[in-house]
Amino acid sequence: MRNPVIRIPYTELFPPPTIIPHTARSLPGAVAALQEFLHAPPPRDLPASTIILTGAGLSVASGLADYRGVNGTYRVNKTYRPIYYHEFLTNHEARKRYWARSFLGWTTLNKASPNAGHYAVRDLGRLGLVSAVITQNVDSFHPRAHPEIPTLELHGYLRSTVCTSCWNEFPRESFQRELARLNPIWDAFLHEAVASGALETEDPDEKRARGIRMNPDGDVELPEAPYTTFRYPACPKCLSSPPYLAEGKAVVEVDDDGAWSPASNAGILKPAVVMFGESIPAKIKEAAEDAIDKAGRVLVLATSLATYSAWRLVKRAKDRGMPIAIVNVGGVRGEDAFFADLRDPQMGSLGVRVEMSTETLLPALLAQLRQPRFQRAESRMADGSSEQSGAAVFKDMLS
Ligand SMILES: [Zn+2]
Repeated sequence: MRNPVIRIPYTELFPPPTIIPHTARSLPGAVAALQEFLHAPPPRDLPASTIILTGAGLSVASGLADYRGVNGTYRVNKTYRPIYYHEFLTNHEARKRYWARSFLGWTTLNKASPNAGHYAVRDLGRLGLVSAVITQNVDSFHPRAHPEIPTLELHGYLRSTVCTSCWNEFPRESFQRELARLNPIWDAFLHEAVASGALETEDPDEKRARGIRMNPDGDVELPEAPYTTFRYPACPKCLSSPPYLAEGKAVVEVDDDGAWSPASNAGILKPAVVMFGESIPAKIKEAAEDAIDKAGRVLVLATSLATYSAWRLVKRAKDRGMPIAIVNVGGVRGEDAFFADLRDPQMGSLGVRVEMSTETLLPALLAQLRQPRFQRAESRMADGSSEQSGAAVFKDMLS
């Protein structure tokens, strides 16, 4: 594969933003700027549709931690270090630790729901203003909130596990039940933690006081827990019919209860996310580029674009002359370059930079867009433009 895009964590903070236009410092000003942005005629011969690119900040209001926000993982826990793909693939001990933490974290993630920000994206789609979504989030909230808008999950999703030998996917839900069965002591601890509310609280200080830290990948930190005792199942497909490797037929062995044995050389399940240090599949990379190329503007929500795979999509949009709007609390990677060529009269229609939380700003934007004078303009757009139906945008990826 040429030019693979590898997911690498970037833990630094970026300089604070310049707000564009100046009036977008207040909520009404920010709403007005985004209205202008969404309704302005696209430059040159670009399509009228808008694509949304989202990140971890959008799910903060659902109770999940982001990376660089006020209570983000990189601020709250300076020593946080995510597991790398290579480490996961090659190290049984690292996998035990990962799955033990994920076993606890899944409960919180599984109970969490999309928030007002995700439903605002749905409503922008219903108004004909948004044709597609690319998200870096692995929580599946976008497809849950708006199944009718094509969503590309750039870094995969936690709702499934995938086998690193045969690449079959399995539901995370049933995997969780297997983890509970194989690890009864951990299961009891999980029940206690749920009962005490330690996993329920959204207050990171309270979580820390109870010795629990949530990370953005649905993971819990328990510094003193004995990860070495944790067991996890093997891929059921590879177990019943071991695949052929370069060196011959694979060995897939389990203990008496069905837990993966280190005597195996295949059948390792991983979360169906792009781990740090892992390449984004070529199909996904190309589908994301294709989605950008089919849109006329990009609206970036709640991400600092620290991840190269996301930043390069906005850079691609900029290179195509697409107007860019960014809504994020805190600085964004390379953002000055995205707005450097804007001049005052164009601001708003050709570029917006707002520093506000999406769960405040987006519902206010929707309320304004539903005012009668905007409704008329939007029905014209929705009726007159075939670009608004984006159902085919990601068909290559899904086939
Ligand atoms: Zn398998």
